[in-house]
Amino acid sequence: MEASSVALLLASLLFSAASAVDYTATNNAGGTPGGARFDSEIGLDYGKQVLADASSFCWSIFQQPTEADRRSVQRIALIVESMDGVAYNSNDEIHLSADYVAGYSGDVRTEITGVLYHEVTHSWQWNGRGAANGGLIEGIADFVRLKAGYAPGHWVGPGGGDRWDQGYDVTARFLDYCEGLMAGFVAQLNAKMRDGYSDDFFQQLLGKTVDQLWTDYKAHAVCAFVYPTMCLAACLAVYPAICHSICPVVCPTVCPIVCPTVCPAICPIVCPTVCPVVVKRYINQDISKGNIDLEKGIGVVEDKHMGSSNKLRDEPKLEYQPLPGVPLVNEKP
Ligand SMILES: [Zn+2]
Repeated sequence: MEASSVALLLASLLFSAASAVDYTATNNAGGTPGGARFDSEIGLDYGKQVLADASSFCWSIFQQPTEADRRSVQRIALIVESMDGVAYNSNDEIHLSADYVAGYSGDVRTEITGVLYHEVTHSWQWNGRGAANGGLIEGIADFVRLKAGYAPGHWVGPGGGDRWDQGYDVTARFLDYCEGLMAGFVAQLNAKMRDGYSDDFFQQLLGKTVDQLWTDYKAHAVCAFVYPTMCLAACLAVYPAICHSICPVVCPTVCPIVCPTVCPAICPIVCPTVCPVVVKRYINQDISKGNIDLEKGIGVVEDKHMGSSNKLRDEPKLEYQPLPGVPLVNEKP
C-alpha cells in the first residue's frame, strides 16, 4: 500500500472515530424492583441499542444526513435510577425512573423504547437557541416517537387537545397533520429552529398561521370521525351521548354546506335535531324496516341512497369553526 493511501486510511479512521457517537447505559437502581425489572425485561445492551437506533431515526426524520446538519453530540448516556416521574434528558444524559419501570403494567420494553425515542430526540432537535415554545419542543419529541411506531395507547387520538402548543401527544398529533400537508415539514421546522424561533415558521412553510392550521386540524378531526363506517353504528348505539357532542360542532354550519351531496346519509347520524325530516325518513322508516345494517354501518346507507360507495369517504372541502369548549368524542379525558 502506498504511503498516501495509508495516510488516507488513517485519516478516515481518525475521522470516523472522532465522529462516532458514544452510547452508554448504566443501571444505578440494581437493588430495587424497578432496577431488577429493567435488567430482566429490557437490559443495558438493548437500552444502548435503542439510543443508537433512535439517533439514526432522528437524523432521518430531521433530514440530517451529515454531521454538519446536526447538533454536536459526542455521547448519549442512559442512567436508570430511583426518581419520580418517567424520564428526562439533561446534557445528553437520559435519566430513566426505575420506579416507573417497576410500576408500569404491560409491555414495559416497548413503553421504555418509546420513552427513549422521545428523550433521544431532545439531544438532536434544535430549540431556537432557547427561544422555542416548550410545548413545541415536547411535541417534536413525541412526533419522533409517533413516527417510530411507539405511540402508547394512552395518548390522545388525532384531533385531541385544546391548544396546538399543549405539548407531547397533543402537539405530536398536530405536527403529524402538518406533515401530511407537506412531507418533510417537521424536518424543515426543526432546521429553522437552529437559529431562533417564531410561530411565523408555520406560515412560512405551510402558508397559514399556526392558529389557522390548528382550527383546520380540529375540523379535520371531526370529519374523520364522522365519515368512517363505524359512525352510524356508534352513533345509534350510544346516542345521545356521542351525537350530542358531535352535533354542536358539526351540524349548525356544516350541514347546510354538506347537505346537497352527503347530508342524506350523514344527517340521520349527525344531525338528528337539525335534520328532522331526514332523520324521520331513516330512523323511523329504514331502521324500523331493518334496511340499515348496524354492523356494516354507513356504507349500507350510501349504497342505497347515493349510488357511489366511495363518495362519502371523500371528505368535502369545508370551512367552519368548531365551537370552543365542545369536546371531540374520540378524545380521552
Ligand atoms: Zn421531553
